[in-house]
Amino acid sequence: MTVVKTCFDKILPWEINRPQRMMSFGDQARAVFVFRKMWITGSTLQVRFLEGSAEQKTLVIEQAAWWSEHANLNFDFNDAANADIRIAFDSRDGAWSYIGTDASRIPQHLPTMNLGFMDGGTAAHEFGHAIGLAHEHQNPAGGIEWNEQAVIQDLSGPPNNWDEATIRHNVLNKYSIDQIRGTEFDPDSIMLYFFPDSWVSNGPGTSANEILSNLDKAFIASADAYPGASPAATELPVIDLDGTTANIGAPGEEDLFRFEVGNAGRHTIETGGQTDVVMKLFGPDNQNLLIAEDDDGGAGRNSKITADLLPGAYFVQIRHYNSRSGTGDYSIRVST
Ligand SMILES: [Zn+2]
Repeated sequence: MTVVKTCFDKILPWEINRPQRMMSFGDQARAVFVFRKMWITGSTLQVRFLEGSAEQKTLVIEQAAWWSEHANLNFDFNDAANADIRIAFDSRDGAWSYIGTDASRIPQHLPTMNLGFMDGGTAAHEFGHAIGLAHEHQNPAGGIEWNEQAVIQDLSGPPNNWDEATIRHNVLNKYSIDQIRGTEFDPDSIMLYFFPDSWVSNGPGTSANEILSNLDKAFIASADAYPGASPAATELPVIDLDGTTANIGAPGEEDLFRFEVGNAGRHTIETGGQTDVVMKLFGPDNQNLLIAEDDDGGAGRNSKITADLLPGAYFVQIRHYNSRSGTGDYSIRVST
């Protein structure tokens, strides 16, 4: 029996059976990114410790900064009641995190991350999830072929005691994707866990990577993730019959819009045109608080979100569905 500490990707219950679309990258930076779960570039994410010793907290703050040194994201460890990321240290619950903006869907008294152990770079690994990264071993272009029997046998026992479905979800399954082209596997990524030789049928196992790889750093700072230039929010009028025209000028580009709701009530935000964009709505007065997301709910392949909104400022993040090569014009409008 090989005891392996591995990490559990928390998936929202209603998404368990939904194929996940991933972002992937070509020659320079390679990583597995759940592009739908990305925060707005330039955001400051508030973090609250639900418990923990001074020593644990110091280590977490230190390792979170490994990402914020490169990504255009900041962490504010202010223990705010409405913090975006909430950390527990329950040693009976392993190490896990919700991915990116999924944390917005979790009730505020509950953790969005658990650090049941903190070996090596565990906290940095979980913060990778918290900003939208997935497991490198589930990269569909991944180099690992599993010895499934050995994996299932080992993870069925302590300390994981996982059933087969859980083992398949966390380890054996690759992400299902229609967008991956020629990405390579990064054996040095901090998003890769240690796997023993006995688990891998096409070569040696993997090593535990305790620091960010050069590709991790390059990727998270790249235009495909959280680049240095934050998108400037374009102000949208409410009830704009013609819509505001915009365009995704480069693959992976993120567009940001802002609008004010003066009177509470039902609002519809929708895109128009031939470009297949995906939309996320955040607010009120908080660009980290996800309200809704949509891909093809509008006319054709357009996005549409209808929601009852309180007065305040709202933020709309638009990206192309095809993060690797998609560009094009579209329009966006808000109506009541
Ligand atoms: Zn993980």
